[in-house]
Amino acid sequence: MKSSQVPFKEDPEQIEFAKNILISLRDPVVVINEEGMILAATRKMYEVFETPPATLQGMNLLSLLEDKKESSRIPELLETLRTSEEAVKDFPVLLSSANLKRHRFSINANRLPLYNQKTYFLLCFTEVHVLPDGNIDYRKLLHEVLSEAPALICTLRGKDHIFELANHKYQDLLEFREIIGKSVKEVLPEVENQGFIKMLDGVYNTGKPFIGKEISLDLKGENGGKTVMLDFVYQPIKDAAGNVEGIFVHAVDVTEKVLNRQSLENSEKELRNVIDTVPVIIWITNPLGEGNYLNKEWYQYTGQTRKESLGAGWVEALHPEDRDKIYQNFMEAHRERKEYHAKFRLRNKNGSYRWVVDRGRPKWTSEGEFEGLIGTVTDVHDDYLKEQVIKENEHRIRSIVEQATVATAVYTGREMTIELANDAMIDLWGKTREVVGKSLREALPELEGQPFHDLLDKVFTTGETYWGKEDRVDLMRNGSLETGYYNFTYKPLRNEEGEIIGILNMGLNVTEMVESKTLLKERERHFKLMADLMPGKVINTDASGKPIFFNQNWYDFVGLDFEQLKEYSWENFIHPSEENEVRKKWSHSLKTGKTFEMQLRLRDKDGNYLWHLSRNEAVKGENGEITMWIGISTEIQRLKEEEKRKEDFLKMVSHELKTPVTSIKGYVQLLLNLLEKYKLEIPGNVPLKPSLERIDNQIVRLTRLIAEILDLSRLEENKLELKEEEFDLNEMVEQTIQDIKLTNTQHQMEIFHSHRARVFADKDRIGQVLINFITNAIKYSPDSQYIQIHVIKVGSDKVAVSVRDKGIGIDAKFHKNIFKRFYRIGVESKETYSGFGIGLYLANEIIERHNGYIEVKSKIGEGSDFSFVLLENKQENE
Ligand code: ADP
Repeated sequence: MKSSQVPFKEDPEQIEFAKNILISLRDPVVVINEEGMILAATRKMYEVFETPPATLQGMNLLSLLEDKKESSRIPELLETLRTSEEAVKDFPVLLSSANLKRHRFSINANRLPLYNQKTYFLLCFTEVHVLPDGNIDYRKLLHEVLSEAPALICTLRGKDHIFELANHKYQDLLEFREIIGKSVKEVLPEVENQGFIKMLDGVYNTGKPFIGKEISLDLKGENGGKTVMLDFVYQPIKDAAGNVEGIFVHAVDVTEKVLNRQSLENSEKELRNVIDTVPVIIWITNPLGEGNYLNKEWYQYTGQTRKESLGAGWVEALHPEDRDKIYQNFMEAHRERKEYHAKFRLRNKNGSYRWVVDRGRPKWTSEGEFEGLIGTVTDVHDDYLKEQVIKENEHRIRSIVEQATVATAVYTGREMTIELANDAMIDLWGKTREVVGKSLREALPELEGQPFHDLLDKVFTTGETYWGKEDRVDLMRNGSLETGYYNFTYKPLRNEEGEIIGILNMGLNVTEMVESKTLLKERERHFKLMADLMPGKVINTDASGKPIFFNQNWYDFVGLDFEQLKEYSWENFIHPSEENEVRKKWSHSLKTGKTFEMQLRLRDKDGNYLWHLSRNEAVKGENGEITMWIGISTEIQRLKEEEKRKEDFLKMVSHELKTPVTSIKGYVQLLLNLLEKYKLEIPGNVPLKPSLERIDNQIVRLTRLIAEILDLSRLEENKLELKEEEFDLNEMVEQTIQDIKLTNTQHQMEIFHSHRARVFADKDRIGQVLINFITNAIKYSPDSQYIQIHVIKVGSDKVAVSVRDKGIGIDAKFHKNIFKRFYRIGVESKETYSGFGIGLYLANEIIERHNGYIEVKSKIGEGSDFSFVLLENKQENE
């Protein structure tokens, strides 16, 4: 068609010339130039092509031809015209008109006389089937038909089926073997045993046509042969008398069609197979919603038969409770031609119902017509149950969280939406339930500027749990910003895939604890300050005696700091003379928890030993266990010196008094003896004897006092010696009481020997103790004259002598102190009862040196019971 685009540059004069030639002609005639370009055409020609003259003019003939095969013949025609200078006759050609009608023409053409040195041709088109004069050339027509027909056509003549005629297509099939005039057997020897000859014979002999459908024909060929499928008709050709002369063969090559169909069938079959084998139920409906197809899986799953599931029969396989609703939805989807989605229980062939998901989509033809729905049914029972379990679990978790006493909340997403928060958390926040569902930022705007949003974001990003310990949080509670301290966790929550979806927040208000801790620290500071301000030396040790604190006085005294002092141990500052005793007493205290108390000398930084009174007391926990010790050492150097001076003075006085008192006693005794012997009468009734007896009595007391003071100083100087011997305790008690009775006649003293024992001890000293007990009992019982003395067995190997009075008694709080040197109870009593407060001190010392002990039982106003306990000397007894 390209040539039609070549500019038409013919001389108008020449066109005029061409037109003039044609003017008188009635037939379809054109004048063309050497390239086939149309210069002019007759009116008839316009009609044939249904094209206005202007369009036709300048067009190339080639563009009017229908197919390539034909168009290739025009140049051939032109070539013939150009070279041979002869006219061309009956040149057949198939032309198409503008409306694509096909026209079969035979062209008669000849060269026009030269005009302006240019060659032109005149082509006269004659439509083939209808000749201008009305005569039909049947042979030609037949030939045309045969060659044009899309079928394979041939005619066979005679009983040997000689090829008489065969169209181009037929010849093409046989790869252009020479066939005309030859028998079928000769031309196609390979078809004999394919049954064709027999069929031909049959037609020839019976005169009945034979119709073959999709019969395959194997042909041998140069390139290995081929197989074609043919639909064909063997039509007998009969003469006027009705005798069969030959056979008209009309065959259509349906190879492609059959193959196509077969492959279509195969793929359809495959598709159906696939549909039937997939483990899903597939259904297809028509536009009315009637089930017109269900795959095998459906029947296998439900156990329904094809008949049962027909139409709306499939609904019967649904759970009765689901049926109506689902069917309504299903029909609605069809009516509205929309997607359909449902979840229901489907009965399987075992009669149990399982949850399935049913999904369908509308199906449209290529023309856009609604065809119905196509859908699938999937068993989701297990997933559904799992989902239910998860839901159930979620519900349970929710209720656990709700009920938990620990403040708990769950945030989801990076924006930290409060998914869950239990009452404890709501309460902690000081908010209402309304915060649930809001983001944390929205719910607790006061957190802005505090580190928590960043912390949460970090946990969400890294997946690492955050543990808050005593973190400060400022929360808007009851309308004011409150500072609190919390222990809390931000723990990431993950889904099944391990992605972080939220955060679990658990919190505990520890404000009180933190505050009390701070208070404690503050108190500790106060305590230290106080301890530092105290004049004494304060030490604080743990339960095992290891120092944990010394006050400033300690550091100042020894000239060391804490570390050095701790290292060096305070015990190293004790005077060697007291060291052993301290160790003994201190370890005893540590073991028993009893208070340690002792006077001892401590060395200061200049090496001087100064007297201290040290007292270590155990601090006990709630269950009575020792938690620590607090010790205070108070310097008593001056007191000690004072005491020493007093003692020295007393010692000196007693010493000096001893001789005069003894001589006074001697003279008094002498005078008494003289009075007795000579029965002297003093005129004027002077009570001489009673006066002398009084003096003697006072001298006994004075002597004892002097003895006590001397004993005291001996004790101080460690010079109190014991003269131990074995003696009968009961006898000793009897004698002592008798002696006392001599000088004291008012008091009634009764002895009870409930046990008899011998002891190994200093008899005089033990007597001294008993005398002290009895003189005290007399002295402190101004309104009662009755005193009991008991000798009793204690344990398995001890004996006790107890002195009981009905006197003023002693308050329990003084029980310990009365054994201390110079200790006396009350100021009042000092006036009423004379004494120095050394009697019990000496008694205690003496008994302790005998490895015994003194016990006191007394209540104020009810009298006292003093007893000393000694080890019985059993060996001698037995
Ligand atoms: P004193 O010389 O004062 O009697 P002691 O050492 O013998 O000294 O006694 C100490 C203190 O114990 C007394 O001052 C007195 O208060 C109290 N005491 C001792 N024995 C008795 C008793 N039997 N009844 C009441 N109080 C007593």
